[in-house]
Amino acid sequence: MKSAVLVEPNRIEIRDQARPEPGPGQVLVRVRAVGVCGSDTHYFAGWRDHESGTIYPFVLGHEFAGDVAQLGAGVDDVAEGQRVLCAPDLPCGTCEWCVRGEKNVCPNVQFAGSAGVMGCLSEYYLVARSQLHPIPDSITYARATLCEPLAIGLYIIDNLVKPRGGESYAVIGAGPIGLVSAFCARLRNAGAVYVSERIGPRADAALRYGATEICRVEDEDDFENFIDAATGHNGVDVVIEAGGESGSILQAAKLSRIHGLVIIEGIPPAGEVPFAVDAARRRELNVIFGRRSLDKTDEALELIETGRFDADGMITHEFPLREAQKAFECTRDYRDGVIKAVIYP
Ligand SMILES: [Zn+2]
Ligand SMILES: [Zn+2]
Repeated sequence: MKSAVLVEPNRIEIRDQARPEPGPGQVLVRVRAVGVCGSDTHYFAGWRDHESGTIYPFVLGHEFAGDVAQLGAGVDDVAEGQRVLCAPDLPCGTCEWCVRGEKNVCPNVQFAGSAGVMGCLSEYYLVARSQLHPIPDSITYARATLCEPLAIGLYIIDNLVKPRGGESYAVIGAGPIGLVSAFCARLRNAGAVYVSERIGPRADAALRYGATEICRVEDEDDFENFIDAATGHNGVDVVIEAGGESGSILQAAKLSRIHGLVIIEGIPPAGEVPFAVDAARRRELNVIFGRRSLDKTDEALELIETGRFDADGMITHEFPLREAQKAFECTRDYRDGVIKAVIYP
């Protein structure tokens, strides 16, 4: 089978690899579509080698859908040829957090395409049966890959913000996670949703995904001034940091009102970045660092299937497997108005 193999930072080669055999409880999936995530590009660029222990050659990819190709022993509730969405994570199921149902923070999780676990950018990929969700014929494979980021948006709003409705939001960054956050905030009856973005096509997209107003950022403090003016110097109820840059994390606390809530969702290139402690302390802020999602796949699928969430509108670029290098460079460099690139193995 063909795989897109990261042989060193910023260089993917297409290589032939042995097709794996499913063991007990496992399923071999013929991978049909893989979404490129911002976090993938960190691995691609080699920024996270130090923490993840990435050993080359490595295979990236964790947002994927395909067909069931072969069943391992004991798997009898899916059929070969069935169309499936695959969850990227396999939590251990036995640790303190898994037992409590907080599987998204399982420290023993096997997560596709991260921390030494090979990803799915291959023609075939092995998963546990528990990672599969059958999908109806009405959802394309590419749309199904958007379930993973959309589930994160639902998790942020429902589980971390827990809104009552009417809240004002500031969303920093209109990449896929900023967009799904804005979308889910509006889905749960947000008031104003202000979104900041530097890149034109992403800012335009934000208006289609729930933003009530856009701040096109040119200078660092543009969004602070914008939120000051929009809220009469009070700040917003909820800040969602989805920029994943040192500067956006530093800015987050300054946009919030007193007793507001700040969700840090972006993943900065470095493990330690400055935070506006003074702004946070004076406002007695609640700050939550979000991690992945929990049990939102069914609702994400339904939102996509019914068209309430426009999955196609986020897919700006499509590539065959042999052009995986291009897909990653484009996403890494925010080139050509890319929001989400999808690769078809
Ligand atoms: Zn992702
Ligand atoms: Zn666990």
